[in-house]
Formats: sequence, structure tokens, C-alpha cells
Amino acid sequence: MVDLQYEVIVGLEIHVQLCTESKMFCACAVEFGAQANSRVCPVCMGMPGVLPVMNKKAFEYSVLAGLALNCEIPSFTKWDRKSYYYPDLPKNYQISQYDLPLAKDGFIEIPVLVDAREDTARMAVARGDAAGTKRIGIIRAHLEEDAGKNLHTAGNFSQVDLNRTGTPLLEIVTEPDLSSGAEARALAVELQRMVRYLGVSEGDMQKGQMRFEPNINLIITKDGKEYRTPIAEIKNLNSFRALEKSVEYEEHRQLDEFLETGRVLKMGSKTTRGWDDEREVTVLQREKEEAHDYRYFPEPDLVPVEMTDAWLDEIRGRLCELPLARQVRYVAEFKLSDYDAGVVTGERATADFFEAAVDAGGEPKRVCNLLTQVGLKLANEKGCGVDELSVTAESVAELAGMVGSGSVSAGAAATIFGAMGETTKEPAVLAEELNLIQKSDAGELAAIVAEVLAANPQAVEDVTAGSKKSKKARGFLLGQVMQKTKGQANPKVVSEILAGKLG
Ligand code: ZN
Ligand code: MN
Repeated sequence: MVDLQYEVIVGLEIHVQLCTESKMFCACAVEFGAQANSRVCPVCMGMPGVLPVMNKKAFEYSVLAGLALNCEIPSFTKWDRKSYYYPDLPKNYQISQYDLPLAKDGFIEIPVLVDAREDTARMAVARGDAAGTKRIGIIRAHLEEDAGKNLHTAGNFSQVDLNRTGTPLLEIVTEPDLSSGAEARALAVELQRMVRYLGVSEGDMQKGQMRFEPNINLIITKDGKEYRTPIAEIKNLNSFRALEKSVEYEEHRQLDEFLETGRVLKMGSKTTRGWDDEREVTVLQREKEEAHDYRYFPEPDLVPVEMTDAWLDEIRGRLCELPLARQVRYVAEFKLSDYDAGVVTGERATADFFEAAVDAGGEPKRVCNLLTQVGLKLANEKGCGVDELSVTAESVAELAGMVGSGSVSAGAAATIFGAMGETTKEPAVLAEELNLIQKSDAGELAAIVAEVLAANPQAVEDVTAGSKKSKKARGFLLGQVMQKTKGQANPKVVSEILAGKLG
């Protein structure tokens, strides 16, 4: 018997597109879906003799993200040229940052996975303390410009669209602290929530605003001896699913390869692989023995950036409570489940709205139910935020109170919520107008129950005889009462009256 164990080691490189209006080094608009090559100028097309000018907002967004990632922000940073030629980078180099990134040595907390091997990873933000989180090191974060896009759709040749060239990208590099595809996914999801909270990126995956490149290898212990498999880097993943699946695929591929060939890591070597989304496999792109020679050198056309304490403090003032911290707090403070707290803190606007409704006196769990089961659905249909439904936090608090007191059912509350958005009337007014006030008055309901029982002697007999028809007959009688009251009877109260009369 071979004694074999292994550990998966994953580090991530992430490119996040910042949501500035103009590009990194020119005044061209950053705009998705515009006519090809219509958002370009001599600077981003790399014409000779042009001069780039730094977008200050992009720099501040990057520093803000760096602070949220608990990074050190050096007071001096500079720009470098990374030289390579590719049709989508006609100026022959990318302006990036090499040895002096604007942020370094930080970390991000991600939710700990209950079972990392489940298809959809379940998170545990346990007991409202940090025990449910795992810390992943951030090596560095730097700012650079994006390249254009090659299009291979038009027959036997390729086209290039340079609208994307010069778009500001924040590149974030993590330590290899992740140990599964599910953890890599959890980090990506957390980072997306974070940049959206900070307002530095829309993090829209469909528009390619977040791209992932995981580095994966295994530490295998076989018969007491340790081996490391060659590192594979998977290029350009643009969905959470592809990220998770590709890491899982590599895990098994590398294990099989090791068992077949015994191939181990050679220092300085790295394999680049691509992800085939349809076949769900990684495909070898190239093997490089040594790092690519990008001939980095300081960008002569841009001055270095000096960060004063005052400027840094001003940016620090824009930090907000981050989504995971908020999720952990909601579990502790409002006794929400991990799941509910995760949904409510998904977007900053939703979390703010939730807290405003709780501040207005709404019971947290009921407010949360109204938002997750009704509000977010409505917002989704309308393609807006919960805060943009023309429903106030105060009226949601009031509606939650009405559900709590039993004056409307949960189902009726959904109808009222929808109507609030259309009419801006108060929930109590709408409940009256729409005839949705739940009848909970035992005396009134007892009279109706008596009528129903008198009219249905066979069902009454089935219930009292305790035959196997009993349960069905009881349901029938309840249904008759609901029908007579046009669905307004409180089913709980009716059931109690029925039980009192029929045993
Ligand atoms: Zn331009
Ligand atoms: Mn990069």
C-alpha cells in the first residue's frame, strides 16, 4: 500500500477594472460596448511623441482598495514600462508598476468553508466572531493599463478593437494561501463585494471587469517523502465558476501526472494553461523555463507619485465597514443566519437599507425576510437597487411590524411591498385598500368555522372518526374557511378553533 497525501497550493492574480469615467493616461471614455475603435486617441493608440497624464481618481481608487486590503501604502511609487508586442498592444509596452507597487504586504479575510468539496461552497461565519474567517496574504497591488481586444470572429483574419486600451486595471497578487478551488472562489466573491462597497469597481464579470489567474501546484507526501508538482498558471478566467472548476481540474490532473511520470517542480519553471469552458479542462499553452524578459524600465514620460500623509488620510476617510465584517456583525448583533447575513450584505445599498429599516424599529429577521424574499426580487426585475424601489426604510419597518403582529400574512406583505413601490402609500393604508388585513379575531372566525362545519357534515365525520381521511378532511375544512374569508383568515387561529371543536 502506498501512503500518499497531498495539499493543494493556490495563489491568485486578479485584475480589477476601476470604474473611472476616463482612461488611465488619456481623456478617452471608458465605455463598454461602444463602436469598435471609437474611444481612442493618439495616447492610448501609442502614437510616437505623445505624453501620458495620470488619472488621479484611478490612483486614489487603487490606494483605497489597498487600504481595504490592509496593505502598506508607500509614500513613493513610480511607473514602469513592461515591454512586449501583441496586436492588441500596438505601442509595444504596457505602463505598469514593477518594483515599487502602490500597495504591498496586506491581507484579506474570506469566509471559511464548511465543506470545501461541495458543489456550491457553504460558508460559515460562525458565531459572529472571526472564527469563521480565514486570512489570505496579499503580496502586492499595483495599477496598470489594460490592452485592447483581438476579435477572431471575421473569417480568416483577426481584427483589433482598441477601445479598451488604457483602461485602468488594479492588479492584486495573493500569497499562495488558498487550498482549494472553492476557497479561490470565496476570495474572488469577497473581493468583488469589497470593490463594489468601496465604489472603485462595478466588478461586472459579464463585462470582463474582473479576471483571474490562479497559480496551482500540489505538495504530495508519499511514503514519508515530500514532492512538489510543477506550478501551472491558468490564464484569463472570467467567471467564479471557471475559477473554481479549473483549480479543481488542475488538482486532479497534477496528481495523475505525478503518479504517472513522477514529474516535480523545477525552480523557476512555470507552465501556462488555458481553460476550455465547454469541455471543462485546462489546456497546455506554453512551458517556460525562465521568466519572460519584459525589459522593465522606469517610464520616462510620467513622474513618480509621492503620497503625502494628508492625502493618504483623506483617502483613508473614504473607507467603510467592509462586507464580511458587516456580515459577521449581522450574525452577532441581529441573530441572522450566515446565509441571510450574506445575502443582505451582498450589496452596500441593501445593507444600508436593512439597517435603516432596523433603526426605524423593524424586527431584524422580519425586515431581512421582506428584503431577501420580496425586495431583492423586485429590484432584480427592475434592474435597480432595493434603495431605488421608491419604498422607504420606515414603511418596510412598519410592514415588518404588521407581519409580526399577525395583522397581515407573509404572502399579503409581499403584495403590499410591491404596491408600495407603485403608489408610495403607507403599508397600513394599502392593507386596507387591498383587503389584505388578516382576520385574527377568534370570535368572528369561530362563527365562520361553525357555519362551515354545519355545511360539511361528511368532512366533520371523517375528522372525528379519526380515519385515514382525517387529515385531508381537516385541510378541506380549513380551505373552506379561507375561501369564505377570501383568504383573509389567519390560518393559525382557524386551525386552533378547528382543533378546539373537533379535537
Ligand atoms: Zn485615449
Ligand atoms: Mn497585469
